[in-house]
Amino acid sequence: MLLKSSPAAQDDETTNAATTPPRSEESQDEEEYTIVQTGSAATRRPLPKLKDLDDDEPLIDTTVALPLNSKKTKRLQKQQLKKKKRTTVRTETTSFLELPAELLEEVISHLIPTEISVLLRLNKATRAFILANETSITRSIIGRRYSILAQCFPLPYPLSSVPAETQAALLNPRRQELINIHRRPYQHIKPLDAGKICTCTTCLLAWNNLNLILDVAHFQPHLETREPIPMIPRGTAPEWNLALTDQHARVVEHAMQSRLVYASILQTHLASIVNTLTRQQRLRPAKSAAKHHHNTHTHSPNPPRPPKRLYNISTTDISAGTDAFLARAGPPSYEFPFHRDNYYTLQAYVPNRKWSESLKRWMYYDGSQHDKDLALARQWYLPQEGSVLTAPVGLEMTKDAAERAMVRIDKLLGTGNMREEGGEGGSVLPIR
Ligand SMILES: [Zn+2]
Repeated sequence: MLLKSSPAAQDDETTNAATTPPRSEESQDEEEYTIVQTGSAATRRPLPKLKDLDDDEPLIDTTVALPLNSKKTKRLQKQQLKKKKRTTVRTETTSFLELPAELLEEVISHLIPTEISVLLRLNKATRAFILANETSITRSIIGRRYSILAQCFPLPYPLSSVPAETQAALLNPRRQELINIHRRPYQHIKPLDAGKICTCTTCLLAWNNLNLILDVAHFQPHLETREPIPMIPRGTAPEWNLALTDQHARVVEHAMQSRLVYASILQTHLASIVNTLTRQQRLRPAKSAAKHHHNTHTHSPNPPRPPKRLYNISTTDISAGTDAFLARAGPPSYEFPFHRDNYYTLQAYVPNRKWSESLKRWMYYDGSQHDKDLALARQWYLPQEGSVLTAPVGLEMTKDAAERAMVRIDKLLGTGNMREEGGEGGSVLPIR
């Protein structure tokens, strides 16, 4: 007898065929049964012989796919994998430089500036791509990581970017002489080259601030290990210091040509700030742990709380690698660290901004001050009839530039009593 089932009953056949009693008891032994496989032979278990199924043993449905585990299938699989590899390699991108430019730029702009500097040395093609797209890559990086620091630490302008007539006003010997008289001779900052860089008040201040970042960073290991910063006796100029400040000046000059170098300076300063704000707690644990161990048997119910960090900087802020935490309320940086002695107490130097109590946010310069300073220089130092004689001689250098800038902000915010008036004719610094 041929045991067949209709297509509709095929699925049940493997299990039901066994339980369906044969039509005739006597014919069972005589007739030969042929099992018709309806599915794939490989995935079906062979049906047990019917004579074995007459027993009343409970039946277990074991119709599962058999794992392919023969030498032959393994060999086949290997061959297929090899074939696949061979064919896919040809279509895959072999170098990240083959990615679409926008995508590649996006990937690179997630790195930090020093990582990009390393990438520049990878090969010529990578270097060429980064340099060709340096402006947009660094714009993304600065926007993502250092948007606050970039506003607080603008670059000075090269003198070549200043119109020729204004250059003459800036380089007016009488003006340069006054600058030299009023400029504080800083030990830790090399004076800018007036023949290369704009010497308006804003640019002088920008130059000093960027050089300061590099000097502060240089002495971080000293502060970290509580090793005193070498003192320089007044009136002396040791070689090591000249070399150091000269090196910093060259980096800042380079930053005026390369946005990537500028972004690296901002990265450096963020690292210094984070280092400084977390140093107290990093240096403290050994002492407090020992103390805690000593007092284990007394168990103080109120253990001393760790000191609150400036800007409430958290481990999340640190791992984010951005300056976003500087947007929180904190002390303003009105005082320029004029000596390395200031580094011991310097927490976070973030100049050129003021906290607005009413708006509950920081106010920044709008970047137009350089043009205004140039206008003043033209007004006072161009050899126009009467202008030099009646001009308030050297007024722009008679007060500390940072202080005067803060006076202007104070005036705008209606808190003019905080600082002494600068006396420069009510020039108001636009802020945003
Ligand atoms: Zn300038």
